[in-house]
Amino acid sequence: MLTKKRIAQLSDDFESKTPQEILTWAIEAFWPQVAMSSSFQTHSMPLLHMATRIRHDLLIFFLDTGYHFWDTLIFRERVAGEWLLNVLDLYRDSRWDVLVRQNVRTLPLDDPDLCCYIHKVQPMQKASKDLKAWISGIRREQTETRAQAQILELQDNGLLKINPLLNWTKAEVERYIRAQDLPSHPLLEKGFRSIGCAPCTQAVEQSEDDRAGRWAGRGKTECGLHTEMFRQKDLHGIKQDIRLNLTGTSESKD
Ligand code: SF4
Repeated sequence: MLTKKRIAQLSDDFESKTPQEILTWAIEAFWPQVAMSSSFQTHSMPLLHMATRIRHDLLIFFLDTGYHFWDTLIFRERVAGEWLLNVLDLYRDSRWDVLVRQNVRTLPLDDPDLCCYIHKVQPMQKASKDLKAWISGIRREQTETRAQAQILELQDNGLLKINPLLNWTKAEVERYIRAQDLPSHPLLEKGFRSIGCAPCTQAVEQSEDDRAGRWAGRGKTECGLHTEMFRQKDLHGIKQDIRLNLTGTSESKD
């Protein structure tokens, strides 16, 4: 059992370690109660490659929101098949369906925060319930929120989030992709430099930030997996707010 103090010390030490060294520690320390999440875009390939060279049977979560580009699903299938990955698709709880369809016209467009909560945050919360550690591919240079992240982050529910690529730059990611001749998401060459769900992703110009096409013009930069929404120990309050917002009643259905 790692204390908060020890986690903070290790996190500081890891600032000067390579992603492979951090991954090796994480997988050895927490196996088999460790998993990694991946969105299966081109820039996800290095971490996926490094981690599955340490353990090819590492559990990989893919959040299948139902809103992905067809190209993403085909690319995921291709990489999972060629690399013999242990991919588990995570889906939304079907108990949301009636509530949402009766109260929101077009979920990703009308209420993207609720949509991300239902399709990403809650499925990850459930899937990681019996885990000790979750490996994520976020990098500090990607967003203002991610710039504040630590390599090791203890969540309120006891899950240790591990961010081995936090200090890598885009140039380092691309250098690794070239050096290892890793596969590329087919939409990259069409200007999609950061790829999420189809309703919330646009191609970007060369002069724009890679993530400028994510929720463009909607005041949203994160899905919630890497923010307070995921870190909260008790999501009951969030659920209640959402129900109140949708139905005018805070009656719990769980
Ligand atoms: S990225 Fe868009 S479509 Fe995907 S879960 Fe979030 S709001 Fe919904």
